[in-house]
Amino acid sequence: MQNTTIKNLVILGGGTAGWMTAALMAKVLGKVINITLVESEQIGTVGVGEATIPPIVSFNQALGLEEKEFLRATSGSIKLGIQFESWSREGERYMHAFGGIGKNFPFCDFYNYWLRARAAGDTASFWDYSLNYQAAMQNKFAPIKNIPNTNLPGISYAYHFDAGLYAQFLRRFAEAKGVKRIEGKVCDVRRNSDSGFVESLLLDSGQVVEGDLFVDCSGFVGLLIDKAVASEYDQWDQWLPCDRAMAVPSASAGEIVPYTRSIARACGWQWQIPLQHRTGNGLVYSSRHWSDEQARKVLLANLPGEALAEPRVIPFRTGHRRQQWCKNVVSLGLASGFLEPLESTSIHLVQTAATRLLKCFPHRGIRGEEVAEFNRQSRLEMERIRDFIILHYKVNQRRDSDFWRHCEEMAVPDSLQAKIDLFRSSGKVFRDYDDLFTEVAWQQVMLGQGVVPQDHHVIADGLSEGQLRDLMQSLKTLIRGTVKQMPPHRAFLTAGR
Ligand SMILES: Cc1cc2nc3c(=O)[nH]c(=O)nc-3n(C[C@H](O)[C@H](O)[C@H](O)COP(=O)(O)OP(=O)(O)OC[C@H]3O[C@@H](n4cnc5c(N)ncnc54)[C@H](O)[C@@H]3O)c2cc1C
Repeated sequence: MQNTTIKNLVILGGGTAGWMTAALMAKVLGKVINITLVESEQIGTVGVGEATIPPIVSFNQALGLEEKEFLRATSGSIKLGIQFESWSREGERYMHAFGGIGKNFPFCDFYNYWLRARAAGDTASFWDYSLNYQAAMQNKFAPIKNIPNTNLPGISYAYHFDAGLYAQFLRRFAEAKGVKRIEGKVCDVRRNSDSGFVESLLLDSGQVVEGDLFVDCSGFVGLLIDKAVASEYDQWDQWLPCDRAMAVPSASAGEIVPYTRSIARACGWQWQIPLQHRTGNGLVYSSRHWSDEQARKVLLANLPGEALAEPRVIPFRTGHRRQQWCKNVVSLGLASGFLEPLESTSIHLVQTAATRLLKCFPHRGIRGEEVAEFNRQSRLEMERIRDFIILHYKVNQRRDSDFWRHCEEMAVPDSLQAKIDLFRSSGKVFRDYDDLFTEVAWQQVMLGQGVVPQDHHVIADGLSEGQLRDLMQSLKTLIRGTVKQMPPHRAFLTAGR
């Protein structure tokens, strides 16, 4: 195996992770290797995962998918950000809006100018300068790259979609590019007795599927990464207190808003994801604080429309595989770890891991150096996203339950505590190299949840009071004017039908 050319790639699992990986591999490597995907309809998929973040747009573009066709096929809608409700205090809300806010200045984020204006008595909110936020609130959308006739950032967007329909859409794409799909349940995994490498999968039909490299997309069970090659799982539940979700679709009610709602509840939080044909709902909660029955009551009492199914409980463990790639098994999707859905990062992690696998793809044998680099990058990526998610829990202002008090009191990773302390004292925040979340994302969550800096950057003092007032006023006017020209979100979704 060590020097054998990697010719046969086997993907286990036909959920979002399996088909995203199959589609990308087929697009890029389809002429060089054979790709087989094994999935079991009897086992099915996790069936949730409907909100994404902006890099998904590039993923679809890289595959060559046509946007309108994709939105139609997946019953998708546009997502401009996540509205967090009652995360700071009951009834308060803010948005983690995608894209930039205000104007980009060298060496000093716009945020500092806003802080200075605010200290001088300006009552405008930070989000008055966010094109995404203003468009989201008015239910408008146009995919503009810049505010017309300026170099100010335009709209940055992602999608809400039906994950099952997305997997089917990608399946058609991947099969057309030569991926061989095998229906069947894996009942045994055969490994080489010397190396421990996986050699083949035995299906309940008796069929044997051999491969050189195996991608484990089997979901939480981690059939290959956990059961066959036994890569350990590091849990992060000391920082991420929720360990269960309850999901239920409901009938659409009213307009399809272009943002995800994340509503804090007494012992967890609830999501609402508007699709064209229904709304996706769920409650993420801590089983130490709420029973399933309590969670069920809260979820069903807070649906935007009639429930379309019985609520389904999904237990999970937040954390990640210490070695996401172990021997000749690379785990992707839920098999590789899970960070809870608060910032809609799981599908994104599939995208980056599949891309990373492509970049590290072994040629003649699997080399330890490639595996180590893949695992190093994967771990760093997960840890940075982990910190951003913990931030939401840590800096809550709620004191109405043991759950929220615990979150506020818990010790957080040093890397995160240092970020919070720096921001609180100076208003400064830095994006680590390759960090998924930008400075402006950190600023929005900290500010939205009540971490108000005691200072701003000295560069912002370089403008006179009059210049600062003009700057803030002209930005607001430009943003309002741009949103006014945008078509309604629904018109974008239905155009060309
Ligand atoms: C509550 C919750 C909410 C979420 N919300 C979001 C979100 O908003 N945004 C986001 O980006 N992500 C979200 N996610 C994550 C997202 O759902 C997953 O990342 C995504 O669906 C990928 O799942 P998967 O393909 O890894 O696993 P699954 O969908 O579970 O697929 C596993 C596949 O493996 C197959 N399989 C398993 N065992 C066998 C076997 N023995 N033989 C043959 N086949 C087998 C199954 O049949 C299936 O095809 C959420 C997850 C949860 C739990």
